[in-house]
Amino acid sequence: MPQNRRDFLRHSSVIAGSAVASSILPSSATGQAAVAARATPIVRRGKPKLTLRYRPYTIELKHVFTIANSSRTTTPVVLTEIEYDGVVGCGEASMPPYLGESHASVLEFLSRVDLSKYDNPFELDTILRDIDAITSGNTAAKASIDIALHDLLGRLMKQPWYNIWGFNAAKTPYTSFTIGIDTADVVRQKTKEAAEFKVLKVKLGRDTDKMMIETIRSVTNTPITADVNQGWRDRAVALDMLFWLKERGVVMVEQPLPKEQVDDLAWLTERSPLPIIGDEGVQRLTDIPHAKGVYHGINIKLMKCTGMREAHKMIVLARSLGLKVMLGCMTETSCAISAASHLSPMVDWADLDGALLIGNDVYDGTKVVDGKVTLLDRPGIGVEKLKK
Ligand SMILES: [Mg+2]
Repeated sequence: MPQNRRDFLRHSSVIAGSAVASSILPSSATGQAAVAARATPIVRRGKPKLTLRYRPYTIELKHVFTIANSSRTTTPVVLTEIEYDGVVGCGEASMPPYLGESHASVLEFLSRVDLSKYDNPFELDTILRDIDAITSGNTAAKASIDIALHDLLGRLMKQPWYNIWGFNAAKTPYTSFTIGIDTADVVRQKTKEAAEFKVLKVKLGRDTDKMMIETIRSVTNTPITADVNQGWRDRAVALDMLFWLKERGVVMVEQPLPKEQVDDLAWLTERSPLPIIGDEGVQRLTDIPHAKGVYHGINIKLMKCTGMREAHKMIVLARSLGLKVMLGCMTETSCAISAASHLSPMVDWADLDGALLIGNDVYDGTKVVDGKVTLLDRPGIGVEKLKK
């Protein structure tokens, strides 16, 4: 058989290696070096390794953000990078305090991650399964690895993830813009500032719910999605409220009751005039079969479900069970928002305004144009670092 070019180069390098060994080693070692050269037919120049880097960062919100049970002006995040063969993928963990992760917990988790043991960055299932097995929980920390790996692979393949997954980038949904619980004056002002958006998301769950809706309706007829964040308690009162909301152009309600009130949620979902979406009650892939009958649909967030790979599986499973799908976010930089946006052509509702609510983004990525999620023709998750 004729020698191909690769075989030729391989044999040449063995010969060259032996020659070098003969010339620079003392005579007693030369024999051993020659044996080693014969036993190892390929002289390696050093395989590329996966390298993980990370740093804590604090997002500053443009406005105080208030939901049913908390208020804040900052969100801690950790920015990650995974490098392989000179190519760098970017990731992020975002940790709203009520979910239990922090700078300290994410940094501690990432310090336990050893990516140098993997030869092939495309072995996503193996790598991410190992990461998931390090400890339970820590879903945002795990997402920061998942996102950076996806970005890296997309850059290595020179393709955006919506292409790799086979989605139509033109079929992205409108994103809602979130209005937190506030005074009538502030709600009116925020509603006016959100004129570009085709859907508004309103936080409810306190005793100001009707005021919030009526104030927005005094400014605009834009469709509203409502997020109660488990703020209601009584199912009959909740059902009355759902009819009241429907009459005022609300199109869907997230997590109206505490996630533990499973029977009450199922009762409400059976009778509700509006789709009921589980958010706090549905975290990961294994929660989805239990969501059937309790909710009409689920809200998937990368920081709850450990990242893009599991989110993709969740969409497929939810669809197969006849559940609606919403894609949500935390307050995040454009890194995590861009990562989620590649899944958006597959969902019924998107709430990907997290990067629009912050004042110190560090990435340029997926845009919102006339209220619509607008994917960019860039490889990976499509982000570039902002020069600051
Ligand atoms: Mg929610």
